[in-house]
Amino acid sequence: MPKLKHRTSWIALAAFCLLLSVVAPSRHRAQGAASSFNGDRAFADLKHIVDYGPRPAGSAPLADERRWIEAQLKETGAQIDEDDFTPSTPAGNLPMANIIARFPGAQSHVLMVSGHYDTKRFSDFRFVGANDGGSSAALLLELARELKGRKHDLTYWLVFLDGEEAVRTEWEGNDNTYGSRHMVEKLSSNGELGRIDAMILVDMIGDSHLLIKRDTNSTQWLVDTVFNAAHRLGYAKYFPDDKTAVDDDHNPFVNAGVPAIDLISDFSSRDSVWHTANDTVQHCSPESLTVVGNVVLASLADLDKSPHTR
Ligand SMILES: [Zn+2]
Repeated sequence: MPKLKHRTSWIALAAFCLLLSVVAPSRHRAQGAASSFNGDRAFADLKHIVDYGPRPAGSAPLADERRWIEAQLKETGAQIDEDDFTPSTPAGNLPMANIIARFPGAQSHVLMVSGHYDTKRFSDFRFVGANDGGSSAALLLELARELKGRKHDLTYWLVFLDGEEAVRTEWEGNDNTYGSRHMVEKLSSNGELGRIDAMILVDMIGDSHLLIKRDTNSTQWLVDTVFNAAHRLGYAKYFPDDKTAVDDDHNPFVNAGVPAIDLISDFSSRDSVWHTANDTVQHCSPESLTVVGNVVLASLADLDKSPHTR
């Protein structure tokens, strides 16, 4: 009996090891898949974008950046549309363009991820918008690479919005969100707006002091979905349950009945570099891009099977 007992324990040990060898790598793979966003590559793109200099709507450097983004997107196999429009602004009629990269799924309904790529115009100092304008464009571009070859049921659109910033110093009336308002008007006139099940907006998410609060101007079930994903990934310290109310490119979508969320790092503190000459690469970090990229990827996967998007 002791021998048998001995043999039993060896068999149990062997079975346990076999179990470990089967379970452990698959758990490891699952974690790897959940943290696959390449923040370092996105950060390299952010630096490249900042090298174009100040990039306000209608400027030559923004047109150069747009051409570069479209060339990068082509390599992901996405269907690319450039939607040119010329709104009237306090500085006259300015040529602007949204870039839309489409990743078709089995269904025609759409999950949209967007962010602005223009920077605010300042005449009294050089503003390069590393975080404000640079980080959103860089995150979307890397997201396009990550989505290449990924299986998803819903169709994904990645949208680089032009003209988010007010042309005047103050954010007043219709002098802001030119690209998002144009997109909502166009989609509602061609009957496509109802295809969008959810819109995730990213803004200033390269901030090295990343702190994203629950925006009360966003759609609350979508806020719950995205914050649940963030907390599940262990990112609660970057996504606290504190509330804020922000006006941004999600407003035109929410106002038109499209569920939308703004993921924006807090810019209200006294030492914030928001809209100053210090919004530079030095105040951004690859880790912040990784965190937000992972949260967006996890949220897309959750939304792909959510009852809210069926
Ligand atoms: Zn701004």
